[in-house]
Parts: sequence; C-alpha cells; structure tokens
Amino acid sequence: FTVLAFESSADDTAVAIVNSERQILSNVVRKQHALHEGYGGIHPKIAIEAHQRNMPLAVQQALQEARTSVNDIDGIAFTRGPGIGGCLSVGSNAAKSLAAALGKPLVGVHHMQAHALTPLLTCSTEEAPVFPFLTLLVSGGHTLLLVATSRSEFKILGTTLDESIGRTFDKISRLLELKWSNRGPGAALEEFALQTTQQDLESVPALPRPMPKRLAFSFSALHSAVERFVYNQGGIGNIAMSTRRGLAMGFQNSAIAQLEEKLGLGMDWCARENLNIRHVVVSGGVASNQLLRTRLSTFLNNWGDHPICLVYPPVALCTDNAAMIAWAAMYRFLDNDFDDYTIDLRPEWSLENLQLH
Ligand code: ATP
Ligand code: FE
Repeated sequence: FTVLAFESSADDTAVAIVNSERQILSNVVRKQHALHEGYGGIHPKIAIEAHQRNMPLAVQQALQEARTSVNDIDGIAFTRGPGIGGCLSVGSNAAKSLAAALGKPLVGVHHMQAHALTPLLTCSTEEAPVFPFLTLLVSGGHTLLLVATSRSEFKILGTTLDESIGRTFDKISRLLELKWSNRGPGAALEEFALQTTQQDLESVPALPRPMPKRLAFSFSALHSAVERFVYNQGGIGNIAMSTRRGLAMGFQNSAIAQLEEKLGLGMDWCARENLNIRHVVVSGGVASNQLLRTRLSTFLNNWGDHPICLVYPPVALCTDNAAMIAWAAMYRFLDNDFDDYTIDLRPEWSLENLQLH
C-alpha cells in the first residue's frame, strides 16, 4: 500500500511517499526559516503564502523522486491538526482535492501522534519500541510526556505550563544573535554551544531548574533568567563570545536536566501503574539535539534494575516531515478506516482524543 502525505501545520511544507513495507520513496521538505528570521517566530501570513507557493512544487518533486505516477498511489494522508489553521488548510485542501479527483481513500492525521510513531517507521525490527512506551515530545509547539499504550491511545502525564522547549531554544538563539540560515534557530544554538569550555560555563550564573517533583514542564523561568543576565550586562553586545557560549551551554544543560527529572517521574508513575516500560521514545524537532540524546540515553541506561532504551528518529525525521504523516495514516488505511472528503481541521486537538472523528 503506497501513501502520499501532505504536512503544512507550521512553517515547513512537506510531501512524502511511503509504502507499507516501511520504505520512504521520497521525503520532500521545503523549509521557510530564512523568511521568518526577522520575526523571531513563525509569521502566520508569510507561512501560509509560502505553503501556497511551495506545495505544488513539493508534490511534483515527491512524485519525481519516488519515480512514481500519481496512479500508483493507493491513499492520501494529511495533517489535520494541531497547528496554525491557515497553514493546515493548504495541505488539507491539496489532499482532499487530490483524493476526491483520484477516487482514493483519505486519512487526516494528528501531527503529534505522527511525531510519536516515527520510530516505528525508522527503527529496525529489533530496536523498535514495544507498547506500552513512554514518549517525550519536544518540539516547537509542544513539550509533552506521554504513555503510549497503542498506536492510537495516549495518556498525557505532563505538559508545559508556559512556553514549549523548542520555542525557548528559538528565543535564546535569537537573544544570542545567532545566524539561523537554513538549519533553524535550535540547531544554530546547539552548534554554537559545541565549543564551550568549563571556564565559559563558570562565567555565567547558575540557571534555574523549575518545577521539581511535579509532572509538568516550565521553561519561562529559565528563559527569563538568561534574559535578565543579558539585560544586566547592558545587552548582548557587551558580552564576550566565550560568555555567550557559556550561556548557550548553561541553558541547554538546565533544559535537559528538567527533561531528565520529568522522565524519572514518568518512570515512577508507570511503575506505580504496573506498566512494564522497556522503551522511551523522544521525538519532535528538539530531539535532533545530540547533547539531549546522549544525556537522556545515559540517564535511562542507568535506570533501576534494567536499562531502558532511548529511541529516536534520524535527525531529518525529528523536525516536521510528511513521511511521519504517511506512516501514522498507514495503520488506518490498512484497517480500512478512512475519513470523508469533507473532513474538517483540528487546529487544537488533544492526543487523548484521537478516536473522536
Ligand atoms: P509542533 O510539532 O509542536 O507542532 P513544530 O512542528 O513547529 O511544532 P518541529 O518541527 O517538530 O516543531 O520542531 C521545531 C523545533 O525544534 C524548533 O523550535 C527548533 O528550534 C527545534 N530544534 C530543531 N533542531 C534542534 C536542535 N538541534 N537542538 C534544539 N532544538 C532544535
Ligand atoms: Fe512538529
């Protein structure tokens, strides 16, 4: 079964073709980072217009790269939500029109479910996570700790009380005046912090690790601590490059320490519920961060009596892509569980309400 999928929930325009043998035949992502660099976040109107320009070219390229004709496609998938309404509508209108014209089945996908299930597409059979597993979704719009008991059943253990971890990375990156270019603000911050020395780290104050012992995330105290330091120094222009590096690294350390603490609390919760957890999936854009992967892997390897495996998608499939949308839809296509061509969007949609059509 071959699925063509559309993703346009935020700033990336993506089209992919994936088959039920877990082969990614093509995976086209057109990024918009450069367009939004001056705004410090996604500008909805600019994002919608860019999706409108990019989508036809992305479909064409996906079919070419897969060396496939549209007649060989068995089903059409798209991101139904959550996301920016106007952005979602570009992918959904393309998907609905194409499915209706071809008379093919259609499935609308939850974007965060797709992030969570990506390792089931990309891991080898031996390494693939086994249900129930814990899932840490760390992205531009979300910071979620979940238990996945099946492909479509998720329980939310914790979410952020203020801003998402990805958005905090973006804002600190902007505060440090890093160049995003095409890799985006989070990746630019990670790269900038790579050469930090112990001395650089000692030149910045200790940064807060908020909300101890609670299954909830918070990044605004950490964010404002960094901002306050920069402000007190009279602005970023007055801060030496080495100290800026220390800030970037100190910020990453503190954000990752918070993730470790919440993972630990999540493991405790699962133990109390007698859930036998063998795997933790970390996914979403921030999961491409190498320091985060290494630190969380080590943390879980030393967990309790038996080590827990950390699994994550390859970097290219951590940030937004349509291959993950195709894969999340695949299960429903194979179950003959389709949506109507008139299906609406869900810009706000909880992962606990997947079954509500
Ligand atoms: P959501 O999935 O919640 O709807 P989104 O789709 O906009 O949000 P993703 O594409 O999954 O988010 O992830 C983008 C986020 O990942 C951005 O905030 C970006 O800065 C962050 N990010 C990307 N690469 C890295 C990295 N190497 N280190 C830290 N953060 C990163
Ligand atoms: Fe995403």
